Amino acid sequence: MRQLRHMAKRRKKTAEEVDVILIGAGIMSATLGTLINELHPRASIEIFERLDEVAAESSDAWNNAGTGHSALCELNYTPQRPDGSVDISKAIKIAEAFEISKEFWSYLVANGLVDRPESFIRSVPHMSFVFGKANVSFLRKRYETMQEHHLFQGMEYTEDHEELKQWIPLVMDGRNADEELAATKIDIGTDVNFGALTRSLFHHLGRKSNVKLRLAHEVRDIERLPNGRWQVKVKNLTTDKKRTVSAKFVFIGAGGGSLLLLEKSGIPEAKGFGGFPVSGQWLKCTNPEIIAKHHAKVYGKAAVGSPPMSVPHLDTRVIDGKMALLFGPYAGFSTKFLKNGSWLDLPASIKFNNIRPMLAAGMDNIPLTKYLINQVRQSPDDRLAALKEYVPTARKEDWELEVAGQRVQVIKKDEKQGGILEFGTEVVSSADGSIAALLGASPGASTSVSIMIDLLARCFPERAKTAQYLSKLHEMIPSYGRSLAADEQLCKETRERSAEVLKLAGTLESV
Ligand SMILES: Cc1cc2nc3c(=O)[nH]c(=O)nc-3n(C[C@H](O)[C@H](O)[C@H](O)COP(=O)(O)OP(=O)(O)OC[C@H]3O[C@@H](n4cnc5c(N)ncnc54)[C@H](O)[C@@H]3O)c2cc1C
Repeated sequence: MRQLRHMAKRRKKTAEEVDVILIGAGIMSATLGTLINELHPRASIEIFERLDEVAAESSDAWNNAGTGHSALCELNYTPQRPDGSVDISKAIKIAEAFEISKEFWSYLVANGLVDRPESFIRSVPHMSFVFGKANVSFLRKRYETMQEHHLFQGMEYTEDHEELKQWIPLVMDGRNADEELAATKIDIGTDVNFGALTRSLFHHLGRKSNVKLRLAHEVRDIERLPNGRWQVKVKNLTTDKKRTVSAKFVFIGAGGGSLLLLEKSGIPEAKGFGGFPVSGQWLKCTNPEIIAKHHAKVYGKAAVGSPPMSVPHLDTRVIDGKMALLFGPYAGFSTKFLKNGSWLDLPASIKFNNIRPMLAAGMDNIPLTKYLINQVRQSPDDRLAALKEYVPTARKEDWELEVAGQRVQVIKKDEKQGGILEFGTEVVSSADGSIAALLGASPGASTSVSIMIDLLARCFPERAKTAQYLSKLHEMIPSYGRSLAADEQLCKETRERSAEVLKLAGTLESV
């Protein structure tokens, strides 16, 4: 009898212990969960998501712009130096990271983990479009510099209105013949439905007996146990029942919600981090005739003093097999950290250890605050005026306003300035690698694979050096460990293989 009781107790304990806990069911947890499952098929994984579906926050197709960020069109990745030259070092890193994402997605397709690549990735030309003498001269210089690197070969440049009319008739319709304009175009750009990809990855993981996905389960607390494991307190939002589960490794992939959970973990590495929420809105075209006239992602230049995420773009999207057209984003301010979050998120994130960095970042970013105030005050006519810079013939009745996802920009300690506001992503992990969180939003989903591979190497340094681990990683990402930026032939072969498996050529015609 005693033995039976002991066995029952042991069984109960086993049920509440797993190897890995992933918090949040967006693209980041989906990517990490899949990588872990491929690299360590026996590891038990439990995923907690507070909403009753996966990919319903930033990773949902309508909540982000779906740009496969590879620095082909985003002008904020190629700043101009004071001497007029253009710095493409960040663009090279982002372009490489996106190739790694495509390699991994190709592995998923080729091995049947995800079917129908066209359900989540399509070829859409990427274009940069500028007006005014100074911007035209910048774009020409940027094009000349990028052309010298094989990662960006195939890019075309024009200032000729007739050629521009061929490339982007909707953008050129109704323009004055004397406007000073320029654009670059490259056909290897993509539109990615990160929501569809996330759903496919969770569908695949859901078939594994050692992976459990718990929807409508909100993580409320994270605590370190004396034995070094992490105990996570979870509330089932359907039954109101609370549970605790412990794991050797926890990933906080809660998007905007990551900062609040990281703070709860109490790790010293989390001290000094803060978050600044920026909400977004799009104008979504409702007229199928207009949607059909445009086939590109056209990125402009952010106004002087405005933040990188405010770069206006006119985007062809392919969502659930249908073409769509979005313009934006228009920024806004909300104290929520998630689209489905609480107004108390920002105040709740302020702690004694991050007040100074937050105040310092606030003082240093007065132009950003002014920009956000102006954006929030925009009337429908102001929004139409911004759209008309890209679609001169736009009419209000063809466009409706949609709320995009919420971004939480990272604020961190800085020796000199006290605190700085960052526009990229940041992985924060404990010294022993047993817990890690992803903060920030950009370039985000497009570079999720590199971010997660780096995270694994950082949290499991010994395991990541083993022959078994490296051989599986090479199978998933054949270019792993070599530089696509330095090796032109490798880059060519890698791109060709990904394009073939992911069917990245002329797929828009089949929509
Ligand atoms: C307006 C906008 C445009 C963007 N455009 C692009 C783009 O063009 N290209 C690109 O690559 N990236 C883009 N991004 C960034 C990209 O969307 C994000 O980097 C990516 O979706 C983040 O994925 P994630 O898994 O970290 O977060 P999310 O997708 O937000 O998922 C986090 C999940 O965690 C859950 N969660 C939160 N708290 C808890 C809790 N306590 N317990 C349990 N679950 C919790 C949430 O409900 C959510 O489902 C854009 C983002 C925005 C907002």
